[in-house]
Amino acid sequence: MDAHRRLLAESDSDIFSHIRAEEQRQTDGLELIPSENYTYPEVLAALGSVLTNKYSERYPGRRYYGGQEHTDAIETIARERAKALFRAEHANVQPLSGSPMNQAVYFAFLQPGDTILAMDLSHGGHLTHGAPVSHMGKVFNFVRYKTEADGSIDFDKMRALALEHRPRMVLAGHSSYPRDLDYAAFQRIADEVEALSFADVSHVGGLIAADCLANPLDAGFDVMTTTTHKSLRGPRGGLILCKAEHAKAIDASVFPGLQGGPHMNQVTASAITFRKAATEEFRAYSQQVLVNARVLADELSNAGAQLITGGTNNHLMVIDTIRSFGLDGRRAEQVLDRIGITTNKQVIPDDPLPPLRPSGVRLGTPACTTRGMKEGDMRLLAGWMDEALRSPDDESLLDRLGEQVRAHCRQFPVPGIGAE
Ligand SMILES: *Cc1c(COP(=O)(O)O)cnc(C)c1O
Repeated sequence: MDAHRRLLAESDSDIFSHIRAEEQRQTDGLELIPSENYTYPEVLAALGSVLTNKYSERYPGRRYYGGQEHTDAIETIARERAKALFRAEHANVQPLSGSPMNQAVYFAFLQPGDTILAMDLSHGGHLTHGAPVSHMGKVFNFVRYKTEADGSIDFDKMRALALEHRPRMVLAGHSSYPRDLDYAAFQRIADEVEALSFADVSHVGGLIAADCLANPLDAGFDVMTTTTHKSLRGPRGGLILCKAEHAKAIDASVFPGLQGGPHMNQVTASAITFRKAATEEFRAYSQQVLVNARVLADELSNAGAQLITGGTNNHLMVIDTIRSFGLDGRRAEQVLDRIGITTNKQVIPDDPLPPLRPSGVRLGTPACTTRGMKEGDMRLLAGWMDEALRSPDDESLLDRLGEQVRAHCRQFPVPGIGAE
């Protein structure tokens, strides 16, 4: 055990025992929540470093407080790496997480009451895209486009909506949509109604960094945001990329508009992540994420599961568990939890059921791929899930499946969780 851990174990055994238990949970369980991942040991080291002690309000070379020679260097490296990774003209690495990152973008360009054209929430849009329960939903006027049954977006319908409502911003982005987006088509509509184009690629940021999915900035988007902790595999945080002409507005909106001091330990960890994301290893990892998702989706479909849009070509999929197994999403999530497979209940397009007991579950492959799982593991996994969901009340079957999942997972070490 390293010195810091030993100190923690001795000084606060209550908390330390929970950390140990969470490590065991992460080791034993199969993580299929598509927004989760296991970060690098180097990131854990940076997060736990003394960079957490430093106040660094404002930007490199223009800070409010002294003592910034190292934070300036680190933030400059983080920005340059982010720009190179995503072919962006400007990067802001300070957003504390995904939600404040998107708020900063809205407030950089819009006035309260302005209209934003965004994806319908049950069709894949995110909470921060103006859900009625979110503050942003109260501040701005969100108008919704939907997806077709095959998962495509009908851009003629979307154009008609844009011409009718004249949004100031067109938002492309999602957290439960299993397909790539045609960003050029979004950009054409934004151009026609003279709206800003904004892509929130939080879920797929890593896949875009690895050039496995399309990059909205290549299609001329004004702004792109991504979280750093999902497919990018970094610390919890947010990243804003934009054209040079928007740099001032974005930076002022993050600080002092929305946030105070950035978390410099997180910025340091992001810099490490961006360098890793530019490597061949990361590209191979990202390709495997996509292959694993396709195999998992194919195997589940072959076993009779109904997938929203019929499958996937990104890292995630949504199973209609009502139509597939006669179980609502909450029950399906519980049954899978019972055998050590973590998923999340998920609304499906125009879901007739309520959000806490919706019609589906969502799964994704970034985390299990980080542990080294491949196509053969996906086939096993699909089989276990199918068996459990078909016999949700067979306790002895669930016990046996749970044992199999645990035994399988233990063959795949979790980065950052070492033997002691
Ligand atoms: C996860 C996510 C966010 C929010 O990120 P948090 O870090 O949880 O605040 C925003 N947008 C999309 C599309 C996401 O998937």
